[in-house]
Amino acid sequence: MRPKLFKASNFVDEDITTEQVRPDWLIDLDWFQQNNRSFSALAQSCLCPKCRERLTGEISAADLLSTIKDCCSKEPGFITGGLPILESIFRLFLANGNQPLNLEELGKQLSQWRGGDTYRTSAEILSRLLQRDQYYGIRQVQTNT
Ligand SMILES: [Zn+2]
Repeated sequence: MRPKLFKASNFVDEDITTEQVRPDWLIDLDWFQQNNRSFSALAQSCLCPKCRERLTGEISAADLLSTIKDCCSKEPGFITGGLPILESIFRLFLANGNQPLNLEELGKQLSQWRGGDTYRTSAEILSRLLQRDQYYGIRQVQTNT
């Protein structure tokens, strides 16, 4: 009915969000090395049964990422509402090839994966969870865009 008003409010929204500092998050592979943990072991537990059979021995992080992105994450039930949130986030980054995401985008995608779980996927809750993460190596990166 009133397209002009609509445009105006959209513009204001955009203005507010671009003014905030919005660090992106991703799986920090260096963190695993620094903390003597194995990214591969963790990522291997996310492989689908077929890939688990196919890939044995030492698998590089890059191979795991591409396999999970192209195959295993497409299997039904890769991320469900029954998984802990942090594990869901870890799997989400595996599914997108570890592309950095800000909390808003992360929450949106997480809620879609988890069948509309918006309560536990708000930016505030995700931020708190991720700050405490000592297991999945999900870290903030400052991107200059
Ligand atoms: Zn697979």
